[in-house]
Formats: sequence, structure tokens, C-alpha cells
Amino acid sequence: MATAYIILIVVVAVVLLGVGATVTFLRPRGMHGVRRSRNRELDLTGSMPRVSDDTSAATGTATATAPAPPAQRPAEPAAPPRPSLEKPPPSAGRMIRLRARLARSQSGFGSALLGLLSRDRLDDDTWDEIEEVLITADVGVTPARQITADLRTRVKVEGSRTPEEVRAMLRGELLAQVETEASRALRTQRHEGRPAVLLMVGVNGTGKTTTCGKLARSLVGDGETVVLGAADTFRAAAADQLQTWGERVGAQVVRSDKDQADPASVAYDAVSTGIEQEVDVVLIDTAGRLHNKNDLMDELGKVKRVIEKRTAVDEVLLVLDATTGQNGLRQARVFAEVVDVTGIVLTKLDGTAKGGIVIAVQRELGVPVKLVGLGEGPDDLAPFDPEAFVDAILGG
Ligand code: GDP
Repeated sequence: MATAYIILIVVVAVVLLGVGATVTFLRPRGMHGVRRSRNRELDLTGSMPRVSDDTSAATGTATATAPAPPAQRPAEPAAPPRPSLEKPPPSAGRMIRLRARLARSQSGFGSALLGLLSRDRLDDDTWDEIEEVLITADVGVTPARQITADLRTRVKVEGSRTPEEVRAMLRGELLAQVETEASRALRTQRHEGRPAVLLMVGVNGTGKTTTCGKLARSLVGDGETVVLGAADTFRAAAADQLQTWGERVGAQVVRSDKDQADPASVAYDAVSTGIEQEVDVVLIDTAGRLHNKNDLMDELGKVKRVIEKRTAVDEVLLVLDATTGQNGLRQARVFAEVVDVTGIVLTKLDGTAKGGIVIAVQRELGVPVKLVGLGEGPDDLAPFDPEAFVDAILGG
């Protein structure tokens, strides 16, 4: 019995020692982990007040560290702020106002030509250089040759060349190349009791939607009423973009609730709305997927035919990114084969574009540049003015 007690006591003692050792083994890791993290927390909370104290000292605001008042639940949800209507400036004289932007990006071309033409001796190499400058400025090979030949004849006939004479000669030559017989006026007047309808076409990314928005603003600035049709249903953001432009100047935007809706039906609805509301102009933005000429022809052809069930399309404006040079010209050719383009909008002429594209594209399509985009600002769209353009090229 005594032996049994002794064995029991020994077993209990061994068990107790084992439990103690296990607890001691586990505790330090767990406790250290917690402590370390507490320490970190303490450090952080210790530094936070200092940061906010410093901020309040720097800004001098007493409220910076004051406890925030308990949040009060508003009686009813606040309505989203309504954008206040803007009053855009009229379109007249915009190109003169924006000429400095054009001059910044184009002056290289103009001053290079002026420099070459002012040389004492104009030998064959110099004339070749003149032609090269024109070609690199996107004027196109044939017009570059013609301009060079014309200038050569003039120099021969006129003899002596003061800097003023050189400038006047080049100005005259460039102006002759930029001017066209066709009118640059946009047809935005109501006729036969219906609004004018303008269709904006071009490859995505050229600035079509932006141009629609800017043009709507400029028309509103000129006192006209406008409906915008968001028929670029391919690019999801385009309708929202147009909506924002419209809201800013009070132009109604007709769009579809569905993604990838039929562009022709949106265009039809927009024109119908314009007719019902007796506005002056309906501007229709379209999608420009250029993967296949036949698809493009089908899509734009359908949009145009469907609109014409209600009224005539007055302008088809082809939007081209002026910085894309020869590539832009290729796009222009395709669009011109698909629809009857009545005017060109050259966007991004404020950037790295070379002004010669104005001459090249007008020649290529036989259609005048009617508007130019000179920046991303809302009023950076101007009716094209040849004289202001040439003077900007020549740094005048
Ligand atoms: P869309 O796909 O043809 O409708 O092209 P967007 O209208 O969305 O324009 C594409 C980008 O070009 C946008 O970032 C515009 O702000 C920009 N953009 C449009 N016109 C001009 C312009 O005249 N100058 C500059 N610098 N950027 C422009």
C-alpha cells in the first residue's frame, strides 16, 4: 500500500513537472509576439499625436486636432450638385487668340524655310533642302515640289531679296496652297423648319467626342441651340463624356441605356428629338472602327440613311489627329471612300503636329479644313483661318 502511495505521488509529481515545462516553453514565444506588437503599437500611437501636433502648429489651425463632432445623419440624402450652366465665348476670332499655340508647334518649319530662302546664294542644294523641309513638315511630295518650283521662279523674277520680301513671298506661296475655293463655313442653320444635322466621323482616339463637345459649346456661344447624339456606342465612356459636355452648356444629350446599342437608332432618336424640340443643330458622334472598310461603310452608311428618313445630313466632318501625319492621310482616304466628307477637323495642332498636313489633306480629299483643335481646353476649337495659320507658321 505504502509502495502504491509512493508510486502515485511520483507519477503526480512527474505529470505536474511536465505541464509546468510545457507552459514555460509555450509562454515566452506567445507573450513576446504580443508584446512586440504592442510595443510597435505603442510606438506608433506615440508618434501620431506628434505628427498631428506638428501639423496643427504648421497650419496654425486650432481645429486640426480638435475632436470631430459626432456625425449627424442628414434628414434625407443630399442631391448630387447640379453643374451650373456655363456661358461659352463665341467662335469668332478664336484662331487669332490661339495662334500662339500654333506658332509654338509650327515655327520650326516656317523659320527653317525663311532661313534657307534668305541665304545669299540659292543653289540647287539649297532648293533641295527647301523641298526637304516642306516634305518633313507633312506637306506631301507633290505639293512640296510645286511650292519649291514656284518659289524658285519668283526668286528669279524678283531678283533682290530683303528679309521682308522673302517673308512676303513665302507667305503668298503658302497662302495660295492653303486657300481653297470651297467655303469653310459650317452649315449650322435650320432649314425647311428642321435643324441642321452634323455627323462627326473619324478613327477612335482622334478627338471626335471631344470635338463634338467643344463644337456644341462654341455653337451655344454663338447663340444656337444644340442636341447631341451619342452614337459612338462602341466606346463605353463616349456617351458619358458627351453627357458631361452637354450638361455644362445646357445641350440635351440623346443616348442609349444599353451597351453596344445600334448607333443608327441612337442617331435617329437624336435627330427626332432635335426636330421635336426645334433646336438649331443636332450633332452626332459616331464610332470609328477602322478594322474593315466594309464594316465601316455599312455602319456609317446605315447611320446616314436612317437619319435621312427624318431629314438631310448637312455636314459630315472628318476628324483627323494632325500628329499622325501620313497615317492620318491614309485614314482620311478610307473615310472619304465610305462617306461624302464635307469638311475636315484637324485636332491636336497644338502638339507636335507639323502644319503641312493642312495642305496635304485638303489636296488629298478636295475638302476644306473647317475647324482646328488647338488644345484640350473646352474652348480650344477654332474655325480655320488660313491667314492666321500661315502667319503662325512664319512666326508672325
Ligand atoms: P475619340 O475616341 O475620337 O472620341 O477621341 P476623344 O474625343 O476621346 O479624344 C482623345 C484624346 O484627345 C483626349 O485626351 C482629348 O482630350 C484629346 N484631344 C482632342 N482634341 C485635342 C486637341 O485639339 N488638342 C489636344 N492637345 N488634345 C486633344
